Amino acid sequence: MSRYAPTKLNKIAPYVPGEQPRDRSYIKLNTNENPYYTSARAVESITKEVLKNLKRYSDPECRLLVEAIAKYYNVQNENVLVTNGSDEALAFCFQAYGGFGVCYADVTYGFYDVLAHLYDCPVEHIPLKEDFTICADEYLGKKKTVVIANPNAQTGIALGIEDIEKIVEGNAENIVIVDQAYVDFFGQNAIPLIKKYKNLIVVNTFSKSRSLAGARAGFVVADSELIADLNKIKYSFHPYNVNTLSMLLAKYAIEDEDYFKETVEKIIATRRRLSAKLNDLGFEVLPSSSNFVLARTPLIDGGKLYSRLKDKGILVRHFSDKRIAGFVRITIGTECETDALIGALEEILHEKG
Ligand SMILES: *Cc1c(COP(=O)(O)O)cnc(C)c1O
Repeated sequence: MSRYAPTKLNKIAPYVPGEQPRDRSYIKLNTNENPYYTSARAVESITKEVLKNLKRYSDPECRLLVEAIAKYYNVQNENVLVTNGSDEALAFCFQAYGGFGVCYADVTYGFYDVLAHLYDCPVEHIPLKEDFTICADEYLGKKKTVVIANPNAQTGIALGIEDIEKIVEGNAENIVIVDQAYVDFFGQNAIPLIKKYKNLIVVNTFSKSRSLAGARAGFVVADSELIADLNKIKYSFHPYNVNTLSMLLAKYAIEDEDYFKETVEKIIATRRRLSAKLNDLGFEVLPSSSNFVLARTPLIDGGKLYSRLKDKGILVRHFSDKRIAGFVRITIGTECETDALIGALEEILHEKG
């Protein structure tokens, strides 16, 4: 830290992204990216003409993409805000509504703690049950902003849409944010509930199920008054928050339904196959509705397994948080990458035994 940094800046504990090492080529199963390429239709939308016109600012209203999203989810344009990744959407939400306090699970997306700290939001962590599920009854009448990643980050476990509705209904005095980064691998989407509940904010991303992590495109769907609140923050921070290329990529990606379905189905099938295989190898695998699995084995500690896999050229994620330190989180890759992972695990366990 420089000597010019104020105390507050000194105290900030920033988010630590999954590693992206360049020292050799790895099978990358550590940051929950989609293993399949970006939609070809999206890629082809970036023509030379588009590139030459980057001399112009991007559309601050991001109209083409807002319209495509509204059409896809059968909501009005006024219900949609596009952001620079869903992390930006979460930042806008914490800035707008975090001051009353925020509450979320003790094991969830690590960025929530970072944002709460940055924006001085008092935090209540609500422990997951022993089996790592969320108890919906513990999220009622909170009188502070409720944040639920559904399916949950790190565990991959989803809460049924009836429980999500129960929580939204049970918090009419405050905002409920549902972070749906992994929802397409689950299937029960909360977006239709925004017509019934004025306190619901649904945060979504193109990074995972739409193979666009590098484009940084996310969006919020909510009642138009909430979108107006969030737009106030956006226009006070970065009016051109989404660049022209990302807007086009996301628009064509959401319109390429066949490719989306094909890749999501493949990932779900691979998730099933990998989970079964891990069980065969003696792992406990949390029941995932996401594009990753959290797994542990009594034979080798999570941190060790992570290192052994890295030695073999396979990157997975290990978290040192007490409750999940015994696990590794494995992103679902292609069939081929998954075969390589299984081979490496068999070798490591064989060496142990
Ligand atoms: C990946 C992830 C995000 C962030 O996605 P971006 O749109 O890439 O910023 C948000 N929430 C959760 C739970 C995630 O796993």
